[in-house]
Amino acid sequence: MYFPLQDIEAAKLNVDDPEHLRIHSIETFGTHDGPGIRLVIFVQGCQFRCLYCQNPDTLDVKGGTMVEIDELVKRALRQKNYFGKDGGVTVSGGEPLLQRSKLLTFFQKLHAEGINTCLDTNGRLNNDQVHRLLDETDLLLLDVKHINEEIHKKLTGLTNKATLGLAEYRESTGKRMWLRYVLVPGWTDQPQYIEEWAQTFTDYKTVDRVEIIPFHQLGEHKWKLMNMEYPLKDTPTPSEETREMAESTFKKYFDNVILK
Ligand code: SF4
Repeated sequence: MYFPLQDIEAAKLNVDDPEHLRIHSIETFGTHDGPGIRLVIFVQGCQFRCLYCQNPDTLDVKGGTMVEIDELVKRALRQKNYFGKDGGVTVSGGEPLLQRSKLLTFFQKLHAEGINTCLDTNGRLNNDQVHRLLDETDLLLLDVKHINEEIHKKLTGLTNKATLGLAEYRESTGKRMWLRYVLVPGWTDQPQYIEEWAQTFTDYKTVDRVEIIPFHQLGEHKWKLMNMEYPLKDTPTPSEETREMAESTFKKYFDNVILK
C-alpha cells in the first residue's frame, strides 16, 4: 500500500540537509523488497539511466520531497508489530547510495529500536562511506544488471566495476546479500553472459538468494507522463523458454533461485 507523502511531516527544502532524506514515495506493507513485511522507502535520485527503468520519475536528484529522518523512524516504530521476526525497513530507489551518510544515521536509529534494515542498490559506489552503511545493513539487495562491462554501459549508462567491487566487499564482511537480475529480452538474456554472471558469484558464501526479475511494461506510462522517449517500448516480456533457461542456468550455481 502506497501513501502520499503529504500525510507525513514533510519539509519543502531546496538544499540537502543532514536531518532529512530526499524521498520519492513510501510503501507501508511491502513484500517484494526483502524478507517478511516491510516498510519500503523509495528514495529520489539515480545516476544510472537503465533503458528498462520502471521508475523514471525517481531519477531526478533534485526532485522528491525532503522528509525528516526522525519522522521515518517514528513511522517504522508504529509499524514494528507487523514486521514479525523477518520484516523491517527497506530503502530502495532511485539509488540509495547517493544519500549514504544520511542513510547511515537512519539505519543506526532503526537498529537502536531493534528494527531490521535492508538496502536495495545498484552498487554504483564503492568507498569507505558506503562500507560503513553496508556494515549497518542487515541484508543487502544488490542489482547486478549485466556481467559484461560494455553491455552494462549501454544498458545503464555506466560501468559495472563499482557494483562488482561492492559485491566483493560484502562477501569479505560475511554479511548476507541477495543478488538481483532483471531479465530483459535482447539485453540480458544471452545464455553465455548469464552463465558468466552466475560463475562470478557461485563461490560467494554470503549470497543466500538470487532473484530473477522478468522485464515488464508496467513503467511505460511513466515515461509517457514525463515526455521521455521509452527505448524499450516495443520489448516484450521474456518468453517462458527464456525464463526457464535463466532459471535453470542460475540453479546450476545457486541453491536458492527465485523467479519472480
Ligand atoms: S538503477 Fe534503478 S532507478 Fe536507477 S535507472 Fe536503473 S532501474 Fe532506474
